[in-house]
Amino acid sequence: MFRFLELLERERDRLAAIITSEHGKVFSDAKGEVQRGGEVVEFSTGIPQLLKGEFSEEVGTSVDSYSMRQPLGAVAGITPFNFPAMVPMWMFPVALACGNTFVLKPSEKDPSLSMELAQLLKLAGLPDGVFNVVHGDKAAVDALLDHPQIQAVSFVGSTPVAEYVYTRGTSTGKRVQALGGAKNHLVVMPDADLEQTTDALMGSAYGSAGERCMSISVAVAVGDAVGDELVKRLLPRIAALRVSPGMDPGAEMGPLVTAEHRAKVRAYVDLGVEEGARLLADGRDCTAHGSGFFLGPSLFDRVTAEMRIYREEIFGPVLAIVRVKNFEEALALVNGHEYGNGTAIFTRDGDSARAFAAGVQAGMVGVNVPIPVPMAYHSFGGWKRSLFGDHYVHGPEGVRFYTRLKTVTARWPAGIRQGADFHMPVLG
Ligand code: NAD
Repeated sequence: MFRFLELLERERDRLAAIITSEHGKVFSDAKGEVQRGGEVVEFSTGIPQLLKGEFSEEVGTSVDSYSMRQPLGAVAGITPFNFPAMVPMWMFPVALACGNTFVLKPSEKDPSLSMELAQLLKLAGLPDGVFNVVHGDKAAVDALLDHPQIQAVSFVGSTPVAEYVYTRGTSTGKRVQALGGAKNHLVVMPDADLEQTTDALMGSAYGSAGERCMSISVAVAVGDAVGDELVKRLLPRIAALRVSPGMDPGAEMGPLVTAEHRAKVRAYVDLGVEEGARLLADGRDCTAHGSGFFLGPSLFDRVTAEMRIYREEIFGPVLAIVRVKNFEEALALVNGHEYGNGTAIFTRDGDSARAFAAGVQAGMVGVNVPIPVPMAYHSFGGWKRSLFGDHYVHGPEGVRFYTRLKTVTARWPAGIRQGADFHMPVLG
C-alpha cells in the first residue's frame, strides 16, 4: 500500500490527464480526485490498527474472550462514470488491506483509469489475481451479483440501479452496500455571509459540470431578500464562468460525459421552463469550442417542491433556487426529499447550525461547507434512497463491511506449568 501510494503520487498528473480526456472534468479537478482516492490508500496503510480486536481477560474463571476481524474472501466493486479514480479507491484499498481479493467493474463510459490503477498495483508488488478488472455493462454486473464466490458487492451509481443491485445481490446472500443518487440542498440563512455563499454555490453547483453526487443542485433561500440577493450575485458570476475543454488553462467547467447525458440534462432545462420555474441563466446557449459535449450553467429561480426539476436528480450544471419563509420550512423541505446524501447550511448562527445538523435527514452535513465529503478516516454515505445497505464506504465502516467479526471464548485446562510429574498419573 505504501508503494502503491508513492506510485499514485508520482503518476498523479498523468492519471489526471487521462481522466480529463475521457470524462471531461477540468485538469485541477481530476488531480483533486486522484488525491482524494490516495487518501483512502493512506488510510489503508494503517490497517493493523483498525483490524485489531478486543480482549477481555477472565470473563469467567480462567476464561478469556477476544474478537478478531477476518476477510470475507472475494469481493467486487461496481463504480460510476463520474469519479473513475476516486470511487474505486473508496473501495479496493480497504478491501485489499483487510485481506480480500477484489474484482472491479468500472463504468463503461470511462474505463481506462481502472487499468492504470491495476498496472500501478502490479508495479507496487501486488500478486496477480488479487486485484482484477472486468469491463462491461449490465451483463458483467449481473454475473458478479450471481457469482457464488463473490461474498460482497460495493456499488456506487444511480438510485434505480443501486436498488436493483442491492435486491439482487442480497437475494443470493451477499453483503451489499449500494450508494445511489442525490439531490443536495444548501440552506442559506438570512445572516449568512452571502459573498462566501455565492462562491460556495458556484463551485458546488457547476464544478465538474454538476456531475458529482455531492453537487449542490438546490439553494434554499430563507426569505425573499436572501433569494433576490443570491440571484443578483450569482448571475454575473455565471456569465463569467469559463466553460472550455478541461486541459485549457483557466477552464472552470468542462463538457458533460456523453451526448446522451447532455441531451438528458438539456431536456430537464426545457422541462423546468414548461413547469413554470424562472430560467434566469440558460446554459443551452453554450458557445464553448473544442471536442466534448458542452452545456453551459443554468439557473432556475422560484422552483417549487412539486416540480420534477426539483424532485429528480439532473446530474448536470443546473442550479435551482427554492424560496422558503423560515428555518423550519427549510428543514422540512430537505427532510421531505426522497434523497438524503449531503446537505449544507450557511449561517453565522451557531444555534441554527446545531439544530440543522441534529435534525436533518442526510448522511453528510456541511456547516458553511458546501460539499461535506468526509475524509478517508471517516466514512461516506447517505440516508434514505441515497444508500441501500447498512455500511458507509471507507473509514471504519469500510473496514467493517469488508471483514467478518469472530469472537473467541477460551479456557485452558491446567497445563505444564508445574514441570514434570514423576508419579503415576491418576484422574481426579
Ligand atoms: P449508473 O447507475 O448508470 O452506472 C453505475 C454502474 O452501474 C456502472 O458501472 C454501470 O455499468 C452499471 N449499470 C448501469 N446500468 C445498469 C443496470 N441496468 N444493471 C446493472 N448495472 C448497471 O450511474 P452513472 O451514470 O455511471 O453515475 C452517476 C450516478 O451515480 C448519479 O446518480 C450519482 O448521484 C451517482 N453517484 C453516487 C455516489 C454516492 O456516493 N452516493 C457517488 C458517485 C455517483
